[in-house]
Amino acid sequence: MDTRSIYQDILGRIEKVIGKEQPRPVLLHAPYMNGNEQKYVAQTIQENWVSSAGAFVTRFEQDIARFCGVNHAVAVVNGTAALHASLYTLGIGRGDEVLVPSLTFVASANAIIHAGAIPHLVECDPRTLGLDVDLLDDHLSQVTKIEDGRLVNKNTGNTIKAIMPVHIFGVPADIDRIDALAQKYGLIVIQDATEALGSTYKGQSFFGYGACAALSFNGNKIITSGGGGAILTNDDALAKKLKHITTTSKQPHAFAFFHDEVGYNYRMPNINAALACAQLEQMPDFLRRKAILSQKYKQAFAGFEHGTYVEYDTDRGCNHWLNAIKLNKPDKESMFKGLEFLANNGIQARPLWTPMHRLPMYKNAPRMEDLSITEAMAESIINIPSSAFLAD
Ligand SMILES: *Cc1c(COP(=O)(O)O)cnc(C)c1O
Repeated sequence: MDTRSIYQDILGRIEKVIGKEQPRPVLLHAPYMNGNEQKYVAQTIQENWVSSAGAFVTRFEQDIARFCGVNHAVAVVNGTAALHASLYTLGIGRGDEVLVPSLTFVASANAIIHAGAIPHLVECDPRTLGLDVDLLDDHLSQVTKIEDGRLVNKNTGNTIKAIMPVHIFGVPADIDRIDALAQKYGLIVIQDATEALGSTYKGQSFFGYGACAALSFNGNKIITSGGGGAILTNDDALAKKLKHITTTSKQPHAFAFFHDEVGYNYRMPNINAALACAQLEQMPDFLRRKAILSQKYKQAFAGFEHGTYVEYDTDRGCNHWLNAIKLNKPDKESMFKGLEFLANNGIQARPLWTPMHRLPMYKNAPRMEDLSITEAMAESIINIPSSAFLAD
């Protein structure tokens, strides 16, 4: 069958779910502002507290920590900053390697570079799209040795210090097995949970695994603060350090400026925190809607000859941030033609990211030799419109 008729079929199934009368273009993931957004944002303007101080930041930190089942949250300007601040604060820097899936959004790898460290690219598991624990274990047993208590990459001489699992589309990676692997090799775990707010693993919150977890509230995420992020942790001392470093490392004082180390201006502004508080209030409704939308897509793609609706096992309480379909034949060229056809019909769909090892700045990064599953996934998976309001 030719590309055109395959994507005609896909278009028909998408339209069956979202309704033909849905205003075009239908974006991949648009914000849904259905609560106290106007009220809270207006309040910050009325009170003249829109910037780096104000009550919504503290409130949001408390609310999101509670919602995620962790002891502490530190609100920051975006998810990339959340990852960078985590790495920096945990002492991961020059000459250190951080294990990260090649199949991720570029910010995961960029944050590692921002910290002065080196991304070490690993293979994904087609069941979860997150990193494959067994393949990684094999890889580490072959390419590393222990030297003075450090896990040394025999090929580069660098220390492999940390691991950054990514929960792709909100699907929890095998976080308990990743945690066990990290303990076996003495690695610090920093979760890139930027897509996973509202997800659970085996019925429970998983943000407490490892040192910390980063969230993002960018405009296309499940909730948005315009731009924003947060770092979640159960470690009291780490939370304190993170707050300090993300707020210019200033010692609290009524008027004196004394900074005890090089810090960052990563604080979430109060006007964004106001939006974030209003959005977080609606999470139960968003999760309900997104579960409905996912069910509808699953039904609509039953009997689709040229691919499947991407589903996960039931242990993974997925937030269904982005719905995806996987085409039977990996073929980037016809996928791009198909996506153009969908765009011409007012449907924004998009391919998975170009894997990190295919980007110019990461093409020479240390990596697992075989990244063929990552490549196959990147050439066969597309995301389809997933905004919460499409469930109506
Ligand atoms: C969104 C996202 C980020 C970065 O978040 P920003 O808020 O855009 O900086 C990092 N990693 C992944 C996997 C993401 O999807």
